[in-house]
Amino acid sequence: MVKQINVLTPKFTTHADGSNAVLFMNELVGEQDGPTIGLSASIHGNENAGSQAMLELFRVLMDTPLKGRIRMLPVANPRAMALNRRFTPLDELNLNREFPGNASGTYSQQMAKAISDHFLEKIDLHIDLHSGTDRPTVDYVYILNDEPLSRAFGSTVLYRPTASKEGTSFDGTTKAVTVDKRGISSVVVELGGGIVDQTPYVQRTVDGVLNMLRHKGVIPGDVKPQPKQIVVNEIAGIRPTQGGWLEPLCPALGATIKKGELLGRVVSPYSFQTLEEIPTPYDNGIMILSHLSRNLVESGDYGFMVGNMESATD
Ligand SMILES: [Zn+2]
Repeated sequence: MVKQINVLTPKFTTHADGSNAVLFMNELVGEQDGPTIGLSASIHGNENAGSQAMLELFRVLMDTPLKGRIRMLPVANPRAMALNRRFTPLDELNLNREFPGNASGTYSQQMAKAISDHFLEKIDLHIDLHSGTDRPTVDYVYILNDEPLSRAFGSTVLYRPTASKEGTSFDGTTKAVTVDKRGISSVVVELGGGIVDQTPYVQRTVDGVLNMLRHKGVIPGDVKPQPKQIVVNEIAGIRPTQGGWLEPLCPALGATIKKGELLGRVVSPYSFQTLEEIPTPYDNGIMILSHLSRNLVESGDYGFMVGNMESATD
């Protein structure tokens, strides 16, 4: 059982209103020795499904036999979450591109340094929970350096970034510390979002993380068998080039979509004209991110993500 809960609140700076800027972490200490598992969420402040899942996980894990420790950073970017923003409002930076951070840099850079020092450097395994926002919904898991652990989450679609893409899009993520510097097992989960009830996504996240913990032997119980899984190594992100109502026409997340089918269309809320039809990019694709309802978008917002099935593997 959990024998102790340590609340850790290291301060990294002072806000202009006089309040302390702290990292807020809960550390569950098990009765037996074992590794320290790190769970983080809301590093992007408008992706809070993971923070909700962490609340549920905390309640479940309180009554679960535990080997080692689980260090939870449920809200990595509090000011961004409070305003439902992807970027930190104080400096408009993407916190997840600023690692390992800089103690004498901007607010986000200082926060990244504190997260590196007090969280990423203190754990033996990292699970970082991301999601869609209150517009798009997403469903996939990254394979970084521990494929069995990524698979244990139980999602049907996994993504193994290729080396060339890694160099550009993932510089400055938490991976800079966990994978590149320290070499600890790391998984990034992308699940949830949209103007729909988040309960099923939160529950899947809870179930997935618990299964990962069983897989690593830190909580008891049998590892649940995985569904049929597909690993893509090429994902196209498609953004609307016009603002307006984005009407989804694509199949459900995890379903296949063929060349010639439309992902969606942008319709003017004013003239009711179709401003843009958005085709799927691959001969044979699989849906990874989309809008589940008619949502108002700006030109260039997140629209759709499609994985390429031609180069996918089991
Ligand atoms: Zn994110």
